[in-house]
Amino acid sequence: MNTDPQTIAQVFALQKDGVVARRTSFDYNARKAALDKLEAKILAEEGAICAALDADFGKHRDEVMLTEILPILLEITHTRKHLRRWMRSRRAASGLAFLGTSARVRPTPKGTALVIAPWNFPFNLAIGPVVSALAAGCSVILKPSELTPATSSLIKRKLAETFPPELVTVVEGGVDVATALLDLPFDHIFFTGSPEVGQIVMGAAAQTLATVTLELGGKSPVIVGPDANIRHAARWIAWGRFMNGGQACVATDHVYVHASVKDDFLKAMDTQILRMYGTEPLQSDNLAKMAHPRQWARVADLIDDARTKGAMVLTGGQTDAATRKITPTILLDVHEDMDVQQTEIFGPILPVMPYTNIDDVIGKINAAAHPLALYVFGSNALADKVIAATTSGTVGVNMSVMVFAHPSAPFGGVGRSGNGGAHGYAGFAAFSAMRQVLRLRFFPFHLVFPPYTTRTRRLVALFRRIVRV
Ligand code: NAD
Repeated sequence: MNTDPQTIAQVFALQKDGVVARRTSFDYNARKAALDKLEAKILAEEGAICAALDADFGKHRDEVMLTEILPILLEITHTRKHLRRWMRSRRAASGLAFLGTSARVRPTPKGTALVIAPWNFPFNLAIGPVVSALAAGCSVILKPSELTPATSSLIKRKLAETFPPELVTVVEGGVDVATALLDLPFDHIFFTGSPEVGQIVMGAAAQTLATVTLELGGKSPVIVGPDANIRHAARWIAWGRFMNGGQACVATDHVYVHASVKDDFLKAMDTQILRMYGTEPLQSDNLAKMAHPRQWARVADLIDDARTKGAMVLTGGQTDAATRKITPTILLDVHEDMDVQQTEIFGPILPVMPYTNIDDVIGKINAAAHPLALYVFGSNALADKVIAATTSGTVGVNMSVMVFAHPSAPFGGVGRSGNGGAHGYAGFAAFSAMRQVLRLRFFPFHLVFPPYTTRTRRLVALFRRIVRV
């Protein structure tokens, strides 16, 4: 498809034209059939998806399966299992003030949705919101990332084979295409990406008053308490940091480790890195490369900047421009004026900072932007204290990254890490308008109509006494 603004506007008009018909024709059976078709296509194309991600990222086939394909298959299965119930209108209890009425909340498709996806999980983060949009009865225009050309073009071809353009269309392109799409009056925009572009998306949505789900990023801190199981913590933190080459929104960004267990933790991290990526991590198939040269240069610069400003590179620190790989790197002695402390790292670098007083760590977390994920390793008492005193989109206790994929709990950020929820019911709800339907059966309060008299006042007084307000 041509991606000039005129063609984009035509596809949008085609989808918009179908909104009214879809309200009735895109019923439970039709939505379920759409999900079945999507699932069948993914199952048939597993090999092609792995090959595309290998071309874009050099990502290990098993990691593609675990982080890109399986979560989407699970999302479809979960959605299909619960969709009939989610679609049902729900009774809303009416108190005395609404005596004589019955109220229901009826999920209604918002209409046409725009999904803008990032490059770091280019299949998962493009298709996941499409599943939710279809479940909710919306049509979708999807713009995948321009930085993963093999995966994005595969998604475009395969979705075009699966769905008519008035239901799902993929538009490839970069900022200019995204900007042209954002000018159109979509009913809902589901954006996954950086907080900076999230601001642009929200600004554009303000012009059309589209609702937005913003799945953004930021720095997700990790606390390792004095009573943590260190080997267990190191394993989950290493996976959370180095999976996908560190390019995950919920990656374990930096670690505050209790000073009493710091040495044990560093030793355990080294053991895990060796176990996961071997003695030559640059050669390891298990380590994904940086997705594009600019990303490689940015992450390599973070290591150089930290070194120059006095950080100690305890482990790793090797970079290879030709393969775009960077070895799992642990930094000590980092401080606030280093770039690693100022930006979301989004690469395989882990700053480790000792602490003695948990209140200082809580203070630092509260002074920064609200994280997308916050991880605590240690006792439930420590976790509960941290959870009560902070805010974040999600919390992982004695585990990492899997907060992203839970089917029944909403996934999303708060403040600078995003707003709104994804996956399962939360994803369905994001693309649905929760419509109130209030029916009158009888009305006992005719005195509320003008002209107002002393009897109206008496009724109000009586009512207030009964309901105690
Ligand atoms: P990005 O914000 O640069 O790009 C995301 C999408 O926005 C791409 O499709 C891109 O073409 C488009 N885009 C870029 N500039 C634009 C502009 N000026 N106007 C309109 N659209 C524009 O993000 P990225 O680099 O692809 O992804 C990395 C970021 O995404 C990180 O911050 C990461 O934490 C975040 N992320 C969040 C989640 C989540 O679920 N919360 C998941 C993955 C990534």
